[in-house]
Amino acid sequence: MIQEVVKNIYRFTLSEFYTNNYCFIKNGKVLIIDSTESKPIINFIKEKKLKVAGLILTHGHVDHICGAKSFQQFNIIPLMNKNDDIQIKISQSIYQEYGFEEEPLFNYQHIEEGKLKIDEFEIEVIETPGHTEGSISLLIDGILFSGDTLFKGSIGRTDLIGGCLNQILKSIKNKLLVLPNDTIVLPGHGEKTTIGEEKLNNPFIKEVI
Ligand SMILES: [Zn+2]
Repeated sequence: MIQEVVKNIYRFTLSEFYTNNYCFIKNGKVLIIDSTESKPIINFIKEKKLKVAGLILTHGHVDHICGAKSFQQFNIIPLMNKNDDIQIKISQSIYQEYGFEEEPLFNYQHIEEGKLKIDEFEIEVIETPGHTEGSISLLIDGILFSGDTLFKGSIGRTDLIGGCLNQILKSIKNKLLVLPNDTIVLPGHGEKTTIGEEKLNNPFIKEVI
């Protein structure tokens, strides 16, 4: 399912995990955030005649990375935080069992907290460990892509390898809730929200503020 959730930002909800992948378009170029499966997005890119600027993975879980390898045909190298190297290895061993056809990537570059410029996309990489050790959130033009760290009304699960409840709450409190209340949040699963709305309505957040 494809939906334009913010002007020039398209959300693809893919696989039985309903994982959100996003295409952020600027001047004919597209930055992709997370890649569950490649085909729907590659079709979209070709239809709209877009140039692929880059692909950033918010973390290494299997439902966020399986399509990434295919994007290397556009001469880009997917980017991910180094603390999720272990997640890639796990994903490579379980992807078939979870029903994914594409083998998770092994060629990618590490990114860490700080500013990053890809073409005209000015990106702030925010390390938000807790869902996994290498989970990141991305702030681009005042819009937060929160991966599986912060959801509308919930937070990412912390019972898988590398997960830690204290850490995710700390990441959310110290790194995300400090953003302006009107910051739009586009999560890795579920609907869009804002920082202010989550401060008011998210039961997990009420515990930390
Ligand atoms: Zn995840």
